[in-house]
Amino acid sequence: MPATVQRQRLIDTITRMVSIPSRTGECGLLLDDMAAMLTAEGFKVDRPVGGHPAAPAVAVRYDSGQPGPTIQFNGHVDTVHLPFVPPAVTATQITGSGSIDMKGGTAAAIEALRVIRDSGVLKKGSVLFTAHDLHEAPWGFGQQLNQMIRDGLVGDAVLIPEYLNQCIPTVSRGSATWKIFIRRTGAPVHEVMRPLDEPSVINAGAELVARFRQLGDAIAGRTDPLAGSETVFIGQIHSGEIFNQYPQVCWMEGTRRWLPGRSPDEVEKEFRQLVAQVERKTKTQIEVQFQVIRDAFKLDTTHPFVETFQQALVEAGGQRLPLGAKPFVDDCNSFWSLAGIPGITHGPTGGGAHTVEEWLSIDDAVRVANVYVLTAAKFCNG
Ligand SMILES: [Zn+2]
Repeated sequence: MPATVQRQRLIDTITRMVSIPSRTGECGLLLDDMAAMLTAEGFKVDRPVGGHPAAPAVAVRYDSGQPGPTIQFNGHVDTVHLPFVPPAVTATQITGSGSIDMKGGTAAAIEALRVIRDSGVLKKGSVLFTAHDLHEAPWGFGQQLNQMIRDGLVGDAVLIPEYLNQCIPTVSRGSATWKIFIRRTGAPVHEVMRPLDEPSVINAGAELVARFRQLGDAIAGRTDPLAGSETVFIGQIHSGEIFNQYPQVCWMEGTRRWLPGRSPDEVEKEFRQLVAQVERKTKTQIEVQFQVIRDAFKLDTTHPFVETFQQALVEAGGQRLPLGAKPFVDDCNSFWSLAGIPGITHGPTGGGAHTVEEWLSIDDAVRVANVYVLTAAKFCNG
């Protein structure tokens, strides 16, 4: 009997991974345990550091022995910084920290790797499995994976088991967070005592808000039918202590989102230039923190990988999916922007990501493991 996805083995893998706390930046224990588990199962495991020695990543290459393309399965195993919730299993679901985002999906990719090896389904090419830390912002910005990609740890196409499975995402906006501090040099004083040549940080803040609105109007014309428009967004603004004190600082923060075709550097430069103009005009000192979360993403829908994946969905008992937009940024964005590799985000059904009430459908994790096996075989065998 050919090797197939084993439901209980998958459940055990997910609960083993969820039981080890692994907040972003702190995945050392979990990745060590994953490496030990895969080594014990006979896989050859590498530990690329990717600039994060506290938690070296896990990389496993399974080679068919015949030349051919490489398909990559890539998962992040870090979780957002919320109180730890241990795993619990019911007849249909697994709950606990990271169960949906995204240890469950990563475990499904591991299960697929086992089945691919044990069934001998791969006649050509190879599978590259990678798991890493430093995904979840604002504790990580994908820098470990980015380094791994720059070091060449990539396949010819990549599957990312994030919790999205109602469409094949073909586009997503890049995103950055920003924070701005507008300062003047003098001390806080009663407003009647203020030197009249001293700039007002609140006026400068108002000027900046007005300029951001102009920028927003200008970039709204850059739009994609699925992903929407480019935006600059202000989430909060603060200044002052009481009604008659001349404040020293005005600060604000928000986001900037852009479409494929513009580089994060270009977007940051445009943003900083605008702020520098306001700084000169208002005679204040303005500090800009601009943190790129991920670049934008695009999937070439004519790439054979897309049709291969659609056929795998059907063969695994499901249906072809419509093309759509990806509401968030994920690691596919890095694979596309840094290496031009086609990537499909597709993971198990579940919910509660970024809350303490995460849950994952076991049946759907089994389905995803099957889809990954079938996609690998079709893509690599040709
Ligand atoms: Zn995730």
